[in-house]
Amino acid sequence: MQYVSTRGESPPIGFLDAVLAGLAPDGGLYSPAAWPEFSKDEIAAFAGKPYAEVAAAVLAKFAGEAIPADEIRRMTADAYAGFDHAAVTPLKQLDSNLWLLELFHGPTLAFKDVAMQLLARLYEHALAAKGRTLTIVCATSGDTGGAAVEALRGRGNLRVVVLFPDGRISEVQRRFMTCAPDDNVRCLAVDGTFDDCQSIVKSLFQAQGFREAVDLSGVNSINWARIAAQVVYYFTAAVALGAPERSISFAVPTGNFGDAFAGYVASRMGLPIERIILATNGNDILARAVNDGRYAKGAVLATQSPAMDIQIASNFERLYFEAVDRQGLETARAMRAFAEAGAIDIPPKALGVIRDLFAGVGIGEAETSRTILSTLNETGEMIDPHTAVGVAAAKRIGAKSPATPLVVLSTAHPAKFPDAVEAACGRGPAMPGAARALAGKPERLDKIAADVEAVKAYVRSFAGV
Ligand SMILES: *Cc1c(COP(=O)(O)O)cnc(C)c1O
Repeated sequence: MQYVSTRGESPPIGFLDAVLAGLAPDGGLYSPAAWPEFSKDEIAAFAGKPYAEVAAAVLAKFAGEAIPADEIRRMTADAYAGFDHAAVTPLKQLDSNLWLLELFHGPTLAFKDVAMQLLARLYEHALAAKGRTLTIVCATSGDTGGAAVEALRGRGNLRVVVLFPDGRISEVQRRFMTCAPDDNVRCLAVDGTFDDCQSIVKSLFQAQGFREAVDLSGVNSINWARIAAQVVYYFTAAVALGAPERSISFAVPTGNFGDAFAGYVASRMGLPIERIILATNGNDILARAVNDGRYAKGAVLATQSPAMDIQIASNFERLYFEAVDRQGLETARAMRAFAEAGAIDIPPKALGVIRDLFAGVGIGEAETSRTILSTLNETGEMIDPHTAVGVAAAKRIGAKSPATPLVVLSTAHPAKFPDAVEAACGRGPAMPGAARALAGKPERLDKIAADVEAVKAYVRSFAGV
């Protein structure tokens, strides 16, 4: 399988090169040259299979001939062995036709572990025998950083630098990064928002001299392997609820649009998805884009669901590319216009394509808190504020048909956001061992201005070049 840039100006490359590259040199994101598909029988055969086996089948479609099949199976088995639930991503029923898909059973208690644990094995495979040391720079709205540090710390041929918005993430989120004692990890508290962090990382990728000097790679959801790994749980959840005979709908708490885009990919691969609800907090650029046809950024609000405090959703570029029939030059034009003006109008035909699958809704702070409380009262489940945004959006919009099962992606364990949960429902979540173990450990971090040159100098010095 070859990978093409959404901006059409970089040559196609293979799967492992796309994994190592992160962002394409023309500033675009890599996407598969064609969508691989599963037949109805192949999808039906996922029923009852262990998660790691379904993951191997999905990854094999994307890695093609780049990795031998038994090596893929070894990697997925290894990646998910450390999850604390046998199903890896279990479903929990909330209501007659409403379900939670718990994605937080990995080591750092958020869904980012699902992809990051696999990505670490892919790096290991791609770098074996290459004698290269990569520098991974990662922007995080809170959870990607911890998952990346946990998956990559202590690995000899990788350096990891995470950039997070200072003061805008929870203490547990921060500690999952800053308490790692390993020499190959650096944490940077950036004086700015997540959008600033992400824009710095994108600039680093476009500085060719720097990129080559430090051998730069990226684990944000600009990296195709992240999306590929997140496709898997759409299949396992849907099949458990009756796919491919029945269609399933999903509600996805979304910020950078990686997780929700993975749902689009699953549908292109043959999974019958009736609707994907984009659930945003007050940072509702994606909900507005779907509803109004205008992709326009606003100021970033700080909310109780900080992992979604984002106004520039990287992966929207991948959807736009699909919606304009994969015209790279049109995608490049639109993304440059957005970078300059902060807003673009989505062409009517492309908007139609987007609305075929997606609906959008923004949920405010009070409704998020009320949903944490009502979910606890009505079902006994304590949910985190990101999941609450998803549940509130699911209840507001619903599936297209009431008979369709509606699955809310539960993206974080409530213990990652104990203050917000306690404020909403009067008691705090039980702390799992992984969160308790962080308390009292020394933290290591450096503060830095939201400035590309300052970050470049820091990373160069860390890499010794
Ligand atoms: C990252 C994250 C999200 C948003 O996911 P995207 O792929 O960026 O849309 C939602 N909830 C939690 C808890 C997260 O960590």
